[in-house]
Amino acid sequence: GDFPIETDTLVIGAGPGGYVAAIRAAQLGQKVTIVEKGSIGGVCLNVGCIPSKALISAGHRFHEAQHSEDMGIIAENVKLDFSKVQAFKDSVVAKLVGGVGSLLKGNKIEVVSGEAYFVDENNIRVLTETSSQTYTFKDCIIATGSTPIELPAFKYTKRVINSTGALALKEVPESLVVIGGGYIGTELGGAFANFGTKITILEGTDEILSAGFEKQMSAIVKKNLKKKGAEIVTKALAKGVEETDTGVTVTYEVKGEEKKVEADYVLVTVGRRPNTAEMGLEQVGIKTTDRGLIEIDKQCRTNIKNIYAIGDIVSGPPLAHKASYEGKIAAEAIAGQTSEIDYLAIPAVVFSEPELASVGYNEAEAKEAGIEAVASKFPFAANGRALSLNSTDGFVKLITRKEDGLVIGAQIAGTNASDMIAELGLAIEAGMTAEDIAMTIHAHPTLGEITMEAAEVALGTPIHIV
Ligand code: FAD
Repeated sequence: GDFPIETDTLVIGAGPGGYVAAIRAAQLGQKVTIVEKGSIGGVCLNVGCIPSKALISAGHRFHEAQHSEDMGIIAENVKLDFSKVQAFKDSVVAKLVGGVGSLLKGNKIEVVSGEAYFVDENNIRVLTETSSQTYTFKDCIIATGSTPIELPAFKYTKRVINSTGALALKEVPESLVVIGGGYIGTELGGAFANFGTKITILEGTDEILSAGFEKQMSAIVKKNLKKKGAEIVTKALAKGVEETDTGVTVTYEVKGEEKKVEADYVLVTVGRRPNTAEMGLEQVGIKTTDRGLIEIDKQCRTNIKNIYAIGDIVSGPPLAHKASYEGKIAAEAIAGQTSEIDYLAIPAVVFSEPELASVGYNEAEAKEAGIEAVASKFPFAANGRALSLNSTDGFVKLITRKEDGLVIGAQIAGTNASDMIAELGLAIEAGMTAEDIAMTIHAHPTLGEITMEAAEVALGTPIHIV
């Protein structure tokens, strides 16, 4: 047998959950080992958040260059070198992955390549193609992330692709069918629509982006996509696909009628499943739900007291910043601190056009929670900065508690919603009221003034709307 290598805290998976947990654990004085079977940075850095945002911003610039006539910009023959777009995207990923590698090293964290498998509650075995090594740990943080779900009728092939395949396309497809109008499908579909691809989104429910975003918000994105020639079919049941050398024909059912659509590729984005099978969790008796999610307490501890779980493998929104947040909490819990998860102030963002962002309660959720709430809205169209950016679609909606004006949520649709939501997350975290936001001087002209005015609406004293 091999000689076990001893460590204090062993982290499995080096995505935004695992690498952040490892760094925090090292900062707190623990000897840390992190095991990764793929690439440092996980899904987020390699095939998720980061490359998708690089493609989205390239698509945005390409589209803007061609469609800014109303600002007096006439650009003819705007060309796209998609291999350079891909090279740009890859360079962004490489920089960040390299950066995380340096951070791990700088924090004296031992990085081990290979696949971790539980032996018992203090030992894992790390397997590579040629080796097997046992690690003995005091505490363990599982951060193994998630994988795209594969539908039986849509097995992944050259032309039936998941998000990873879509991010790696070598050419801009002339046409693309997207199955699933969630945030990943909408973001990637939108990016390719900007590059000139004819998009068809087949969504099973009655609205795209229906999970977590109100109709008023998704309607704005829908309008923008349609303006770019995208077709959005809701209540559509994707049934099957036929593939040839040059394309696919997707069959779907809508209102009881069977229809077909042809395209170069079909992108399937119907959700992700947690990576919790085949790693020996049963050897330790770690409890999972029937969806394969690991059950944790408020400190991210599983039913086994020295083993923690974070990120996409536990319940809650499968988002990178949630994984990182939980990573810090798990590391701090191991160090004996009292940190606990509070999901209320976790924002959710869609990098669509325009962007959507939400934090805390929306109106319906507040009602469900039995909170008497007030919604106060202010439009981008009444803001000088939004007008000067020529981006006037959207609004900020502030949700406050009626009795005292406490900020309990916010929804933003509009340019830069992804950055604007941070102020409202802070307001929730710090227990601020609408008055606190209204009293804060926001620079002019900025989109932040929309937030300030929404707070004034809550107080009944907006300046720029009657
Ligand atoms: P992961 O990032 O999935 O990392 C888990 C790591 O564990 C992987 O590297 C894997 O190889 C490794 N691993 C698994 N099993 C083992 C094992 N047995 N042994 C060793 N290593 C193992 N989120 C956002 O917040 N914002 C976005 O804009 C965003 N955009 C996205 C776009 C796309 C196209 C996709 C697919 C996802 C996006 N996400 C986004 C979601 C985000 O990527 C995930 O929520 C995040 O990566 C989850 O982090 P994690 O640390 O839990 O797991």
